Amino acid sequence: MRFIDTLRLKTKLLFLFILISAGLTLVSILGHTNITAMKKNVDELYFGSFIPVNELNSLIHLYHDGIESTIYKLKSGSITTDEASEKLSITIDEINRLWSSYAGHYKSKDELLYVDYTENTLKNSNIDIERIIQIIQQKQSIQQISTANVSQTVEKMQTVLAKLLQYEKQIAHYERKGLLTTYDSTMLQLSILMTVIIGAIMFLSLVIFKSIHSNQDALEQTSEMLFQANKELEKSSYTDSLTDIYNRRYFNIIYERELKRAKRNGSFFTFMMLDIDYFKLYNDTYGHLEGDNALIAVAAEIKKTLHRPGDYLFRLGGEEFGVIITETDAQNSQMMAEKIRRNIEALNIEHEHNTASHYVTVSIGLTTLIPSVALKEAVILSEADVNLYKAKENGRNQIAISTSILNKNDDHSRGVAI
Ligand code: GH3
Ligand code: MG
Ligand code: MG
Repeated sequence: MRFIDTLRLKTKLLFLFILISAGLTLVSILGHTNITAMKKNVDELYFGSFIPVNELNSLIHLYHDGIESTIYKLKSGSITTDEASEKLSITIDEINRLWSSYAGHYKSKDELLYVDYTENTLKNSNIDIERIIQIIQQKQSIQQISTANVSQTVEKMQTVLAKLLQYEKQIAHYERKGLLTTYDSTMLQLSILMTVIIGAIMFLSLVIFKSIHSNQDALEQTSEMLFQANKELEKSSYTDSLTDIYNRRYFNIIYERELKRAKRNGSFFTFMMLDIDYFKLYNDTYGHLEGDNALIAVAAEIKKTLHRPGDYLFRLGGEEFGVIITETDAQNSQMMAEKIRRNIEALNIEHEHNTASHYVTVSIGLTTLIPSVALKEAVILSEADVNLYKAKENGRNQIAISTSILNKNDDHSRGVAI
């Protein structure tokens, strides 16, 4: 079992093929051998017993019908001497022919003793009968022929032949038993062989089936693992490991994609740049680890505030975040920015050196527009950056918004009044 388990599928299939071929060959050889043996049995039974028994039976009848009754008919005058002589001659010829045919078949040693004895008796009785034929042919008086003697000769002959017949029947019986034994053992051998072969084929098929099944399972598992690993890899390549939000790399993709979409659809596009106020001081005061926790909390809070499918949050680097909001006008975008700013302050993360509040706060530079086709990507980014700077300048913990970047860059985006 273990040996078969370790074989590869191709080898197992080859194994199965060899097993089937060897099994069929073995069954053929065994079948051929046994059928040959049975043919010999049948031959022996037919030519060794059936035909000899028939011949002996005919001989017994010939002595009665051809000899005894002919003499009787001659004596009673119902046939002529010529007819009797002819009938007797024909009968003797037939007796000799049947006997030599019978004696010509294969005889065993034991059988030969009977056969020789019968042959001698037969020859003697034939001599008697030929003498009778001579008497008839020489037109001697048929009174010389003794019915009693003829009957005695015939009876003796019939008795000897009947004994031989009996012996032949016994042999036939024995040969039939031999045939049945060969038949039974053939059937038994074939049944055992077939059971073993079918069992082995079924077992091997089961092993192969299980192996295919487990291979398939393993393949499915591997491809599922691969799929998951790919997903993880894709996610990790787009995710910032500290805050678990999208990273700069993904920002570049989404920014370009959403801006193009807004240009195509003529819809609103908002970009916010957020920066934590006095974060260097925060780190200096509370330690870098607390700084990390604050970054995580701020990211989570911004994420919580954005809940539409068209809203995206990114960590652009350090303590700077980017937010893209689509299909939202300037007024609502400003409301969103204000909400974010308020919610972050409401986290109540202590920041004693923040002059704008006692807690961690952010400043937000915001720009909202319906971009024209010609608008360059970088323009919006720098606009948001400028606004962020303004928010910082104006005292931090606030938002600064520009709704128009028309004229400035000589493009045709529409500014939106709040
Ligand atoms: P401002 O209000 O003008 O933004 O002041 P600021 O101190 O926040 O600005 P500045 O750019 O001088 O400092 C940013 C600081 O953010 C510097 C750095 O120590 C901190 N910082 C950047 N990335 C990380 C980070 O991953 N973890 C922690 N703990 N601090 C970070
Ligand atoms: Mg900064
Ligand atoms: Mg800062």
